[in-house]
Amino acid sequence: MEELSISSEPPSTNLATKLKSELAELIEYPGSRPEYWYDWKWQLKNRITSLEVIRDLIPLTRREEEGIKRASGRLAMAITPYFFSLIDRQDPRCPIRKQAVPRLEEFSVSSCELVDPCGEDSHSPVPGLVHRYPDRALLIVTDSCAMYCRYCTRKRMVGEETPPMSIERFEDTYKYIKSKKTIRDVLISGGDPLMMKSEVLESYLKKLRSIPHLEIIRIGTRVPVTLPMRVNAELVDMLRKYHPLYMSIHFSHPREITPEVAKSCGMLADAGIPLGSQTVLLKGVNDKPATMKKLMHELLKVRVRPYYLYQCDMAMGTAHFRTPVSVGMNIMEELRGHTTGYAVPTFVVDAPGGGGKIPVTPTYLLSQAKGRVTLRNYENKIYNYTEPD
Ligand SMILES: *Cc1c(COP(=O)(O)O)cnc(C)c1O
Ligand code: SF4
Repeated sequence: MEELSISSEPPSTNLATKLKSELAELIEYPGSRPEYWYDWKWQLKNRITSLEVIRDLIPLTRREEEGIKRASGRLAMAITPYFFSLIDRQDPRCPIRKQAVPRLEEFSVSSCELVDPCGEDSHSPVPGLVHRYPDRALLIVTDSCAMYCRYCTRKRMVGEETPPMSIERFEDTYKYIKSKKTIRDVLISGGDPLMMKSEVLESYLKKLRSIPHLEIIRIGTRVPVTLPMRVNAELVDMLRKYHPLYMSIHFSHPREITPEVAKSCGMLADAGIPLGSQTVLLKGVNDKPATMKKLMHELLKVRVRPYYLYQCDMAMGTAHFRTPVSVGMNIMEELRGHTTGYAVPTFVVDAPGGGGKIPVTPTYLLSQAKGRVTLRNYENKIYNYTEPD
């Protein structure tokens, strides 16, 4: 099969029609997928990026059609055929579809919304590094992702698909980390670090590992979910050389945990990489306690330990995804005590302007008097604890 072009230059009509019908067939009939479907490079080359292609694959709503038209330039639409195949094409409320397909609402910006909602740019001592906490730093190595989430907090920078940070530019970042003896943890993020060639990622890992005071390295990624075929033997064999290496994987919905994703998480876990999840609380996607509980359970089944549940940041054009904070608190209330403690993430608000992550928990401590605290449990039963003199 010829590859669909992801460049802005559309192929001639006949060719486009032919390719679209082949893509439609691949998406429609999972049983008959050829070998190349499982090739991550094929998946990337054949991402769905234009109104013309998507319109033939699903009946779009008017708001989606308008949204796609406007989503050109920054944070352009890009959906891997694999992730696209998880969409319920008859249901505009499909949680996978809402994350991937732009809607008109994305272009109404509320006055409170910010270009850089977590104040990352103002905490950047060298380009590509956010150093907010004394002992750990966030390294942004690429602006590319396999699929662009419509609610992305880094909308301001993702989707340009510029080449990853060069090893020459990385030199400055490396020198900075090397000179700051307090940094014991570096979190490699983006964009998505697993979008880079393994050799490039390895060159960063190797350099970071040569810094004696750096205790742990973390990778933040959504690729094991949106492009699970990227996680192959070659990648995990490279990653396992840089332990202690942790990975935070971005999940939004239980339907994302397919046999392919289970396999990708299994390979990473077998390589000894502790896996944590990050989930953004999203209206109409995962804001029902039952959906969130199901997601947390499915994560534990694939050896991913729920890590953070994020209140959706005030990024531009995200009002249609944001919920009141009380929705997240209620979800936490319905998890703690009601299910496995390992299935309970920490609910956080990443403070606008750069205050960092602030945990928000339901109140279990009812009163605190001298020598005595009064608590409630998950069933709302009251207990007293007497403190020592
Ligand atoms: C989230 C974040 C970290 C890591 O925070 P943890 O709570 O340790 O996971 C580090 N730096 C920045 C800038 C962050 O946003
Ligand atoms: S994977 Fe992360 S960085 Fe990429 S678009 Fe989604 S939220 Fe943004």
